Amino acid sequence: MSSLKFIPFAGVALKNLFRKPVTTSYPFAPAQYPERMRGHIEIDIESCISCGMCARSCPPGALTVDRAAGTWTIQRFDCVQCGNCVNVCPKKCLKMVPGYTTPDCTKHSDTYTRTTPLPKPAPRPAAKPAAAGTAAPAAPQAPAAKTE
Ligand code: SF4
Ligand code: SF4
Repeated sequence: MSSLKFIPFAGVALKNLFRKPVTTSYPFAPAQYPERMRGHIEIDIESCISCGMCARSCPPGALTVDRAAGTWTIQRFDCVQCGNCVNVCPKKCLKMVPGYTTPDCTKHSDTYTRTTPLPKPAPRPAAKPAAAGTAAPAAPQAPAAKTE
């Protein structure tokens, strides 16, 4: 009688013999991340224009942009993977990539340095001098005071 209780389990055991395992062999095999995982930030530093918008929008202040030195620095252990910097970057040179920051005993930062200098801004066109006889329109006059 008691041996009959094992029949359902035997069926499951037999099925599992012919199924692929649902687990992975990480760390011996590469980890498989979900498609929309918020992993870590990566930058295409050569496209960065050092505008600093990412640093200003970073809630924990994990980013530092040095325009003069052409560097972009991220404190990996301060980043909360909110994605703000990716959303505000005007050059779309930041992206959220699957994969966790490598664990470490100490907090460290990663610095990326642009190798190509930023293009110089185009000079502003000089203001045109006002042509003779085309004076600026007169300012509207205040209404005359009432006299009784
Ligand atoms: S993902 Fe969020 S916390 Fe991380 S660097 Fe970007 S703005 Fe800062
Ligand atoms: S917002 Fe983009 S372009 Fe501007 S400093 Fe950050 S990474 Fe560079």
